[in-house]
Amino acid sequence: MTDPVEETLRLIQSKPEGILQSELWKELGVDSRKCSRIVKKLEDAGIIERSEFKKDGIKTFLLRAKKMPVNPSDLLAGDELIPCINCELECIVEECHPLMDWMYQLAIVQHTE
Ligand code: SF4
Repeated sequence: MTDPVEETLRLIQSKPEGILQSELWKELGVDSRKCSRIVKKLEDAGIIERSEFKKDGIKTFLLRAKKMPVNPSDLLAGDELIPCINCELECIVEECHPLMDWMYQLAIVQHTE
């Protein structure tokens, strides 16, 4: 079962323009109270930002994921840098062999650590 906080964060992160809290709980299939508690956790952790928003005269909140600094070690599989850096290929992520090779390397490194 997916962790509801993680699921909420993923949903918010998938909307770069943000999502209204009044729509979020419906998309998650939870009640508004539970949604508020999850949103508060994420806001308190500094992962999302919440700003007041009025839709059809009703007050709600616009939720956006904060941009987090990238941990450089997340770009490495052992000492191999992710191929997307400086890539000039036409990007079709699902069909990208350099990325698949890199991810395979990453899996090996993580398995042997
Ligand atoms: S996924 Fe592949 S094609 Fe796309 S940027 Fe990364 S390496 Fe380049």
